[in-house]
Amino acid sequence: MRVLVLSDIHSNLEALRAVLRDAGAVDATWCLGDLVGYGPQPNECVELLRQCEPNVLCIAGNHDCAAIDKLDISIFSADAERAVLWTREQLSASTASYLEGLPERLTWGDVTLVHGSPGEPMWEYLVSAARALENFPLLKTRYCLIGHSHVPLVFVEATQPGLPNGHVMLPGERISLGERRMFLNPGSVGQPRDGNRDASYVLLDTETGRADYCRVEYAFEKTQRLMQQSGLPDRLIVRLAYGL
Ligand code: ZN
Repeated sequence: MRVLVLSDIHSNLEALRAVLRDAGAVDATWCLGDLVGYGPQPNECVELLRQCEPNVLCIAGNHDCAAIDKLDISIFSADAERAVLWTREQLSASTASYLEGLPERLTWGDVTLVHGSPGEPMWEYLVSAARALENFPLLKTRYCLIGHSHVPLVFVEATQPGLPNGHVMLPGERISLGERRMFLNPGSVGQPRDGNRDASYVLLDTETGRADYCRVEYAFEKTQRLMQQSGLPDRLIVRLAYGL
């Protein structure tokens, strides 16, 4: 089965469209949360993702829960909080009820889908080998797909006791899912933070166990214009040009 694995769309319709176009025909789409928040088109993004149903698995991210007032946003940055409050005003009843129904984690065969980490699905940034090591024992499957940090990372359990091997993936890189346990983050569709502004995703072949890491350009200026018209914070607008 050919699976499009994506995460952290963040209401960026231009980026989501580019990823769906670039990925081509797939058998399933797995989304690792944060469909909304930060960006200008929350309803449109949810509707477009839902057009892929019934072959969609989707879990909730912290911004999805914040948008439907299910999460305390007092620890959000000022810009993130402003964007959450703006998003709450935009959500259609249909989008809100879809977000309401998203689970915190899902399992498909030997793969777990979770936004942050198995230990803390909503909050933990799994961005270091130490964090990966702490989370391996909490994992009920061999592989775990994560989002949240917006950085395309892979951590593979070490053959000897010790820290996992981790690295930031490069476009065009192919990862093989082998015997050892693994965390894999496809990066962010709508707000990359690894210094590359292109939308980020993974194509996974569940038969061969190959995961291909991909980037695609999109019309980020269009998203920026819509954000400006919506009065969203400047810092959130500028960062899209730099992938930061
Ligand atoms: Zn996010």
